[in-house]
Amino acid sequence: MATTFIDKARISVKAGAGGNGCVSFHREKYIAAGGPDGGDGGKGGDIILQVDDNLSTLMDFRYKRKYTAENGVDGMGQRKSGKDGKSLVIKVPRGTLVRDLETNEIIKDMSGDEPFVLCKGGKGGWGNTHFATPTRQAPRFAKSGLPGEAFEVTLELKLLADVGLIGFPNVGKSTLLSVVSRANPKIANYHFTTLYPNLGVVYVEDGVSFVMADIPGIIEGASEGAGLGHDFLRHIDRCRLLVHVVDVSGSEGRDPAADFDAISLELKQYSPELAQRPQIVAANKADIMEDSSLLDALKKHVEALGYPLFTISAAAHQGTRELVYAVANKLKELPPVAVYAPEYVKRPPAVDTSAPLEITVEDGVYLVEGPWLQRLISNTNFGDYESRNWFDRMLRESGLFDRLEAMGIQDGDLVSLYNLEFEYQR
Ligand code: GDP
Ligand code: MG
Repeated sequence: MATTFIDKARISVKAGAGGNGCVSFHREKYIAAGGPDGGDGGKGGDIILQVDDNLSTLMDFRYKRKYTAENGVDGMGQRKSGKDGKSLVIKVPRGTLVRDLETNEIIKDMSGDEPFVLCKGGKGGWGNTHFATPTRQAPRFAKSGLPGEAFEVTLELKLLADVGLIGFPNVGKSTLLSVVSRANPKIANYHFTTLYPNLGVVYVEDGVSFVMADIPGIIEGASEGAGLGHDFLRHIDRCRLLVHVVDVSGSEGRDPAADFDAISLELKQYSPELAQRPQIVAANKADIMEDSSLLDALKKHVEALGYPLFTISAAAHQGTRELVYAVANKLKELPPVAVYAPEYVKRPPAVDTSAPLEITVEDGVYLVEGPWLQRLISNTNFGDYESRNWFDRMLRESGLFDRLEAMGIQDGDLVSLYNLEFEYQR
């Protein structure tokens, strides 16, 4: 049975929420009233992405679409902090692009080995121990934990290969890859044999190697979505060099030069930029060539376009060494495999501030709480000026400050919003 190659997926991910802080007072025999000893809530677990080279498709994500990290545990008495929630590590194949579902912007190109924190867990709330001051010795409040970040993302696999093999089905691309590398692609004498991309490492000599990708054969009209191939073209987007394999045997009554042009046109329609990528032409199946004039015509045609041509027989291992050396030499002049820069900028979410906040006064401190405020705080980067300004504006617009004034707040009074505490200034 053929395995399906899944190279696009959509998942939702959510980091763990922080645990709540605890309100508690020290109790011991013979000690009447101890101080506050409520511990902090633990931090919620992160959602972390990590490349795993044992994976070659995004198939797992077809079956599991929701990923949630553990919540932090609530704080306890005796100054015991709650345990942090466990982070969840999601493994992806190398070359996976992570995009924001809504905007399609790239959040991260998972090409390297470093883990990437996609969603940060929420901070734990402080226990009442933190709120004790000389004038407020028995704070009867603690803070709720903050929610973890959540995202809807698409995953898209774009293989990381130096060299991409292109050409019609059945011209011998998989055979070539299997001969020059240790990859073991399916080879059969039908069109469309390759159902999913294959990667092989080609060892040229000590310390010199490159990665070659065999993608399903491009067929005419593929770039317009007419059939198999269109979707797969994205796997060669990153390739530094293309090896264009052409069947010169004439065995199926084909004209190699016309085949070359048909594939070139498909490439151009898919991406003019990709069509400009350096190419080396491999004229294959020379061992069963009946009419060498077809090869001569192809050679003239492609050399006029500036592409070098190598005559080979992949099946008979003829000329493949020379081809491999030519590829390795060309790669030396070319820039490294492209890694895509992130485009996504975290935007403060639009928060509906119409629901009234709950304000209570404890020990002269104005405690403000409410679900949207929780969300707002967890999405604000307080190290960033813009972000802080926006936070301030949202609070102002919600009418919070007017309400505090109406309650008689004075300059210098403390206002406490979850893990934020500040002195009120008119
Ligand atoms: P792909 O569709 O381009 O990947 O082509 P394959 O590598 O699957 O090869 C298609 C058919 O052509 C298979 O039957 C191969 O054995 C055969 N083939 C590939 N290379 C050569 C070659 O150099 N000479 C001959 N005679 N047959 C070849
Ligand atoms: Mg193939």
